[in-house]
Amino acid sequence: MSALRAARELRADCSRCSGLCCVAPAFARSADFALDKPARSPCPHLQGDFRCGIHDRLPERGFRGCTVYDCFGAGQRLTQETFPDTDWRRAPELLDVFQTVRALHELLWYVAAALELPAAAAVHDELRAAFAVTDELAGAGPAKLAGVDVDAQRDRVNPLLRRASELARARVPGRRELRGAMLLGADLRGQDLRGADLRGAVLVGADLRGADLTLADLTGADLRSALVDGRGLRDALFVTPAQFASLGQPALARVTARTPGRAGP
Ligand code: SF4
Repeated sequence: MSALRAARELRADCSRCSGLCCVAPAFARSADFALDKPARSPCPHLQGDFRCGIHDRLPERGFRGCTVYDCFGAGQRLTQETFPDTDWRRAPELLDVFQTVRALHELLWYVAAALELPAAAAVHDELRAAFAVTDELAGAGPAKLAGVDVDAQRDRVNPLLRRASELARARVPGRRELRGAMLLGADLRGQDLRGADLRGAVLVGADLRGADLTLADLTGADLRSALVDGRGLRDALFVTPAQFASLGQPALARVTARTPGRAGP
């Protein structure tokens, strides 16, 4: 873990949050959520103490989406630092800025991950500066947070992340360009995907067993129910804990970095 990631919590700690992710976003009834829920409305399973009433049986109750969600630490930051001594019931404006801080924390996670790549040292100074600015925006007071332009900050940081990825993958000859590729259910067993650009690729249900994903960039790739084994994603780039958690069953047993559902009692 990088010093920056350690200094700023970039992983959800539900025990120090007031259930913001169970209230702020809208849910659409689907394979991931068993019901429709409008934004700014508490999930019926959220208890008065902000714990999930079905934490130990989320998939069985149709809430698989909750098991793969990560606020990147935005929830506890807002609850503990920005709006201390209150919660969304008394300060509903908390709900207005949750998605903003979550998006900024997600950006921080990627920047911290790029700072762990020795091959990207040429852009580390710029990345550290980007981390500081993004962190300052995420830690702004309620009034300033409401006016933060997340897209503009993403536009400033994303070229740096792409550059870091290119530097890290440059030493892999013949790397494949599969950015945004539609690989739904694809049979990719045993394929050489070293250094591949798989940013935003749709790999839902893909069979990646035996594939070599060393230094493959999986930023934003949809890995739900994808099958991975062996070295798996261990040496791939920019794989979030939520992506790990969304993998198919054979891989789950090998994954240690997982996003828990909202903590139960
Ligand atoms: S974690 Fe529990 S309370 Fe929160 S949205 Fe999911 S089912 Fe609802």
